[in-house]
Amino acid sequence: MARIDPVIIVGCGPVGGIGALALNRHGIPVIVLERLESPVEDQRAASIQPAAVELLAELGLADIITRLGVVAPIYHFWDRVEGTRVAAFDHGVLRDDTRFPYVVQYEQFKLVRLAMAAIDGATPAAFRFAAPVADVSQAADHVTVKIDGPNGPETIRGSFVIGCDGARSSVRKAAGIAFEGFTYPQRFIKIGTTFDFFSTGAGYATRNFFFDPDEWLNLFRVGGYGPPGIWRIVVPTRVDEPPEEALAPDSVERRLQKFFPKAGGYPVSYTALYDVHQRVAETFNRGRILLAGDAAHVNNPIGGQGMNSGLADIVNLADKLADILAERADITVLDRYTRQRRKAQVEFVQQNTVNNKRMLEAQDPATRQGYFDQLRRTAEDPLLARQFLRRASLIDSMEAAAAVA
Ligand SMILES: Cc1cc2nc3c(=O)[nH]c(=O)nc-3n(C[C@H](O)[C@H](O)[C@H](O)COP(=O)(O)OP(=O)(O)OC[C@H]3O[C@@H](n4cnc5c(N)ncnc54)[C@H](O)[C@@H]3O)c2cc1C
Repeated sequence: MARIDPVIIVGCGPVGGIGALALNRHGIPVIVLERLESPVEDQRAASIQPAAVELLAELGLADIITRLGVVAPIYHFWDRVEGTRVAAFDHGVLRDDTRFPYVVQYEQFKLVRLAMAAIDGATPAAFRFAAPVADVSQAADHVTVKIDGPNGPETIRGSFVIGCDGARSSVRKAAGIAFEGFTYPQRFIKIGTTFDFFSTGAGYATRNFFFDPDEWLNLFRVGGYGPPGIWRIVVPTRVDEPPEEALAPDSVERRLQKFFPKAGGYPVSYTALYDVHQRVAETFNRGRILLAGDAAHVNNPIGGQGMNSGLADIVNLADKLADILAERADITVLDRYTRQRRKAQVEFVQQNTVNNKRMLEAQDPATRQGYFDQLRRTAEDPLLARQFLRRASLIDSMEAAAAVA
């Protein structure tokens, strides 16, 4: 490949980190600019869906995440009001669709570290921390990125810039790209505890979704910092609940006790509060300025789809940039990137996650019962279960995107 300006990635979250590795595998020089001083220990995403494990396999990371993470072939839906299990889904029905018929629970910050460690030094790759990007601009054959770091302003040049800088993306704003959609009125609170919910005898799986008209709930186990791991609960706050009240230790304890009453307090590892949005950028490419991951789309976390979809963006984009830089394709192939990944977002991830929330919080008893009956029927019929899990695992969305011309 002829000497080329590096591709500049803004943001070293999971999408930026995996993007750097994917470009590195193509022999493309890359510079990652991250505003924080070191890789953040972000405790958001943990569920890596089968379709994303396939992508990570291409980058040589599937074995290690499967070994180090928590492998979860089965997940449950529960009726929180009655305390009964509604349905159990087994990804085993996907054995003809994927080499990885399971979800891997592996926290996103660990994935970033793996990606950085897997970079091949034969191609230049730089990760620069404390490098907040203030502006980006472009000319016909290059981009210019302005960093406003602790040592003062600096400008660097690249062939393309990819905004992997999250929901509030500076790159998206600099390019004037609209971020269409809505924000939910309530926030979601996440609570991590080392209390082992397997020990309760309630029969929980590694991943559990609870229906409740008052307070739906997700319960997941992640590896944490070693055995026994950490169980995470995600619940909505009241619409009028101030953040300091939601995060106060006694209200966190109350929420845990309300879910599963037990003697003694819960050991709490971490808590966090999130605003929740459903938004998709009007385009993911404007000339040489590109968007991937949360910079391009955001959704509620029920069902674990946001990061997975971002990983699908960045692997797709790295392939196309490799074709452009090797002169196998011209820049218009980036319009196809937007068409493919917007379709995956709008017709799959946005719909899936909006429906997941609507289902878990359903108020009307007949509607709730309808969901229960449908989930039971689906889980018990291997053909229906396969259809359902292909969509939940993002296999359908990836295949639909690949078919877009
Ligand atoms: C509670 C919760 C649970 C979730 N669980 C899952 C799950 O199980 N599975 C799933 O697929 N998704 C899940 N998600 C969504 C997932 O966390 C996000 O989709 C994912 O973090 C997006 O990755 P990203 O790299 O695009 O952006 P981010 O992770 O937001 O990373 C952006 C990076 O850019 C940096 N940055 C920002 N601005 C600048 C700037 N101007 N200059 C330089 N750097 C900048 C930030 O510091 C950050 O490091 C969950 C979300 C929440 C809230």
